[in-house]
Amino acid sequence: MIIASNFKTNNTRAGTKEYLKKLDNFMNESGSKQKVMVFPPSSALDSFEFSSEIIVGAQNAYPVLNGSFTGEIGLEQIEEFNLKTTLVGHSERRHIFKESQELCSKKFDFFKQNGFEIVYCIGEPQEVRQEGIKSVMKYCEAQLEGIDLTYEKLIIAYEPVWAIGTGLSASIEQIDETLTKLREKIKAPLLYGGSVKVANTREILQIRECDGVLVGTASWDIDTFCQMIAIADEL
Ligand code: PEP
Repeated sequence: MIIASNFKTNNTRAGTKEYLKKLDNFMNESGSKQKVMVFPPSSALDSFEFSSEIIVGAQNAYPVLNGSFTGEIGLEQIEEFNLKTTLVGHSERRHIFKESQELCSKKFDFFKQNGFEIVYCIGEPQEVRQEGIKSVMKYCEAQLEGIDLTYEKLIIAYEPVWAIGTGLSASIEQIDETLTKLREKIKAPLLYGGSVKVANTREILQIRECDGVLVGTASWDIDTFCQMIAIADEL
């Protein structure tokens, strides 16, 4: 399974180093077989050396090698550290920073062309969820427009906007129904994200079409994140 941590705008360079060191120790000691990914803030990206197989990726990047895009990082800044993984389309990018579907698919294409593993995020806001599953699927399908779903390094994270950072996770039934519908179109691994915590990790990971979780808040504590990986190991 895939167990991924999104730091968002949290942690420092030193804190990230410390976190990854503890994570690497845990992966070695536990002999975990999970695919573990960590997305630190761009200021803390580095060429980390692990004795286990932790994947570090960028949370966001502009689809250029380099150029005049103040405040953004491009391919050159990520590849300096030999990193080959990125999130694209996180709901905070789409909603707070108003990233359009056109930009998300441009980013997807660019990083696909450069051989990146892409965790591509989709998910509906509360008012769409209230209209029912048909509206949810229509909304998610629009967020998949222009995305090559056959790309072999694609991972999809279904993250309902109303569940992200709110402490309010989608119900097991809602996740199950949505992932089952997504599976009709998508062969790539499907993750769930949205207020995943130790208490609901097991149940979520047991959902038939769920291949893992993308975790924000709860993952910022290394012991909690390791507990989640340990739960995946038990299944
Ligand atoms: C996320 O940032 O992708 C996320 C799911 O956050 P949280 O776990 O805090 O809801």
